[in-house]
Amino acid sequence: MEIMRPPEHLVIRPPSEARSLLVRLVRGCNWNRCAFCGIYDFFDTPFSERSLEEVIEDIDALRAIYGDIFKTAFLGDANPLHLKTDFLVQVLEHLRKTFPRLERVTSYARASSLAKKTREELVSIRKAGLDRVHVGMESGSDKVLRFHMKGTTQAQLIDAGHKAMSSGMELSYYVLLGLGGVELWEEHAKESARVLNEVKPHFARIRRLWIHPMSRLGEEIRSGRFTEQTPEGTVLELRSILAELEPSPMVLTCDHANNYIQVEGRIDLHKDGMLEVIDSFLSLPEEQRIRHYRSVPSVI
Ligand code: SF4
Repeated sequence: MEIMRPPEHLVIRPPSEARSLLVRLVRGCNWNRCAFCGIYDFFDTPFSERSLEEVIEDIDALRAIYGDIFKTAFLGDANPLHLKTDFLVQVLEHLRKTFPRLERVTSYARASSLAKKTREELVSIRKAGLDRVHVGMESGSDKVLRFHMKGTTQAQLIDAGHKAMSSGMELSYYVLLGLGGVELWEEHAKESARVLNEVKPHFARIRRLWIHPMSRLGEEIRSGRFTEQTPEGTVLELRSILAELEPSPMVLTCDHANNYIQVEGRIDLHKDGMLEVIDSFLSLPEEQRIRHYRSVPSVI
């Protein structure tokens, strides 16, 4: 088959999708206003939607280049669930037909976009082949979400989570430690745990806030409206969220290199063990803890 043009690349993908086939449905982020983010500005990628023909052409080109070797696929960039349901269903059906060995297809999604779709729409997207959505919850606190202009609310996070779970999709909620700053860290931890307890997503994925000096949040720090969380405070946030979680099969995982503490496990089975890991770290001599904090890379 003749390839007319190379398929487009994504800007980022979750670490758990390192071996996945990457398919671009939209360029950039349709929201692009979160104070802490700016990822698509740094990579000079303004938002635009791709046409169905372009996406189908990319899928065919990927098949011609790589063959049918992939077990997993990931759809990007930031929020393909913003697209019309019919568009998503057509893309997913073509993807599944072209790569029949795929066992899992996942996508980033904003909670507000999931909340706008009916449960029936989500069921049809799930049936067409989308198995899992990765949602940047970031915080369960309305105050924190508002401060960072996340464009979602606690109520939307809960509604979107329930809808996604009841459609049969797997759900990953990402929590960003440090997002409340020194000012709101307790509220951030408490309300984030509240949303996780309410929704009980399959995965709670923990990240640590990394502040780019050029982001809007960098300006907030310089103007004194936000005080960056300390490394130790970040660990205490993680402990505080974990301690509040009620028994459920939800897996909490710190699956990113920028976390100060790496714990992972099912809440109903491994919560006490994870708390012990954190507590034994906190009981180390201060010098040792500081050395550890300095050794952890600050990356996105
Ligand atoms: S955090 Fe997500 S929703 Fe917010 S601007 Fe960045 S990509 Fe868009």
